[in-house]
Amino acid sequence: MTDTTDRIVLVTGGNRGIGRRVAEEFLRRGHRVAVTSRSGQGGPDGALTVRADVTDAASLDAAVGEVERELGDVGVLVANAGITRDRLVLRMTEDDFTAVVDTNLTGVFRTVKRVLKGQIRARWGRIILLSSVVGLYGSAGQVNYASAKAGLVGMARSLTREVGSRGITANVVAPGFIETDMTAELTDEQRARYLAAIPAGRFGSVEDVARVIAWLASDDAGYISGAVIPVDGGLGMGH
Ligand code: NDP
Repeated sequence: MTDTTDRIVLVTGGNRGIGRRVAEEFLRRGHRVAVTSRSGQGGPDGALTVRADVTDAASLDAAVGEVERELGDVGVLVANAGITRDRLVLRMTEDDFTAVVDTNLTGVFRTVKRVLKGQIRARWGRIILLSSVVGLYGSAGQVNYASAKAGLVGMARSLTREVGSRGITANVVAPGFIETDMTAELTDEQRARYLAAIPAGRFGSVEDVARVIAWLASDDAGYISGAVIPVDGGLGMGH
């Protein structure tokens, strides 16, 4: 099958880490790409960078409005922006919990809601949510993060049931340990423990994740929806 290459793609948090590499991969494949960043700068060359904070619906509305004016309705949404605020549960404050949920779960809801109307109108759309192996595997110190990431599975599956008949798919990508700023915060001991548990025997790269996301958005993956696709070297087997 020849893949359609003129999709309009929006990646949240596309200024660094996984999101930036995802944006580069879509550009490489010939798509028109916009990224959000909180500073309004820092997306890859060739992408439109717009300012948005996913915890603020008004800023997202303005950002997506700019993308629609400059490029057109968003066909492919990659909801990637996310944070961690790791603490053992007894030390985790309610603010630690709600801040992570507000960015990683409610922030995704806000973004999806803002782009969905255009996808319904077009009767075509791809919604790809960045979850984590931790959402289903669990992780000590990440009760907030794992709860939000698990919630994305219910979100993708409910979206699939609501809008699946409109040519829209909604899937979850669940990376394992990927080398980015987020994992650079972990201690050597935590890294060694993860490495020992990964059957592939190596950490993942941003390319590993970007290529799977680009494939999920391609014509070849048009009949996959409500799925959780692991990109974790086998770390979470059994999900
Ligand atoms: P990084 O920490 O490298 O980058 C996070 C991105 O999210 C940045 O662009 C950041 O923007 C953006 N962001 C954070 N908060 C907000 C906000 N409120 N509004 C808008 N943008 C925001 O993370 P990764 O690239 O490692 O992770 C990307 C996604 O993949 C996340 O959802 C993460 O949970 C998930 N993931 C990562 C794994 C890993 O091992 N790295 C494993 C599994 C899942 P800014 O530059 O402004 O801070």
